[in-house]
Amino acid sequence: MTVVRTVADLRALLESRRATGHSIGFVPTMGALHAGHLELVHRASVDNDIVVVSVFVNPTQFNDPADLQAYPRSEQRDVELATGAGADVVFIPGADEVYPPSFTATVALAGPIVDNFEGAHRGAAHFAGVTTVVTKLLNMVGPHRAYFGQKDAQQLRVVRAMVSDLNLDVKIVDVPTVREPDGLALSSRNVRLSPAERAYALGLSRAIFAGKAAFGSGAREATVILAAARTVLDEFAVHPEYLAVVDSDTFFPLARVDQDGAVLVVAAQIGRTRLIDNVMLEASQQDGPQ
Ligand code: AMP
Repeated sequence: MTVVRTVADLRALLESRRATGHSIGFVPTMGALHAGHLELVHRASVDNDIVVVSVFVNPTQFNDPADLQAYPRSEQRDVELATGAGADVVFIPGADEVYPPSFTATVALAGPIVDNFEGAHRGAAHFAGVTTVVTKLLNMVGPHRAYFGQKDAQQLRVVRAMVSDLNLDVKIVDVPTVREPDGLALSSRNVRLSPAERAYALGLSRAIFAGKAAFGSGAREATVILAAARTVLDEFAVHPEYLAVVDSDTFFPLARVDQDGAVLVVAAQIGRTRLIDNVMLEASQQDGPQ
C-alpha cells in the first residue's frame, strides 16, 4: 500500500500499471472511514486490479463553515482501514494541491436533481462543489470504475448525470447503504452524536423503513407512505428538513408509486449534526434491518 499526496506522484504510480492493462477502481471519500466506505473499497477490490481511495475533505461542498470545521479527520486510521479493505493506493491531497491559488473552474449541473432537496437545503454551491471535485479527482486518477454509496442517493444521481453529460470515460458503480444492526445508516458524522442524539438519529431509518413497510403492505399514495414515516419521526421527536417520495431519476416528488424507481428520502438536523437517509420503494428489493 502506498500513500501519495500529489497528482504527479499519483500519475507516476498508476501510469505503468495502466499501461500493462491493469484495471483501476476508485473510491472517493472525505475520510473518517467506516464500514460503509470499506464496503465500497471491498467492492472495488473485487472488480479491479488496483484500488485507489482518496481522502479529501472538500471545502467547496460545505455550506456551513462550522460543519467543515467539525468534520472528523483521522488520517492514519483511514490509511490502515482502507488498506485492510483492499486499497493499494491512498491519495491524500492537500487543499492547495486540489485548489491552487490560480484555480477558478466550476463544473455545475442544472435542474431539479441539483436544485431539489439536498440542493435546496445545502445551497446551489453544494452540488457544484461535489461535481467540480469529483471531476478533478476522476481526471487525477483516471479510473475504469468509480464507486459511490446509495446512502447519498441524490449525489449518486448527480454524479451519474455529470458522467453522462460530459462523456466521462468511467463506469459509476453504486453500493447499497451499510447500516448499524439497529438500522442507523453509517455516516462519518455519527461520531459527533451524543448518546441522546444517537437515540433520536435512529428515527430517520426507522421512519423510512416504516414508509417502506406501508408500501410493502400495498400503499401506493405518497401521502399514505409519508404518513407512516412521519408517525415514526414524531415518536422520535425528529423534525425533518425534508421527507418525500421522489423519482430517483428526476428527484421530483411523486404523488403515487406505480413503478420501480421511487425513493423515500429524509434529512434532519440532530443537534449540530445533519443526517440523511433513503430507501428504495421497490417491491422486489429487501434491504434495511430485518
Ligand atoms: P463521504 O466520505 O461521506 O463523502 O462518502 C464517501 C462515499 O461513501 C460516498 O460515495 C458515500 O455515498 C459512501 N457512503 C457513505 N456512507 C455510506 C454507507 N453507510 N453505506 C454505503 N456507502 C456509504
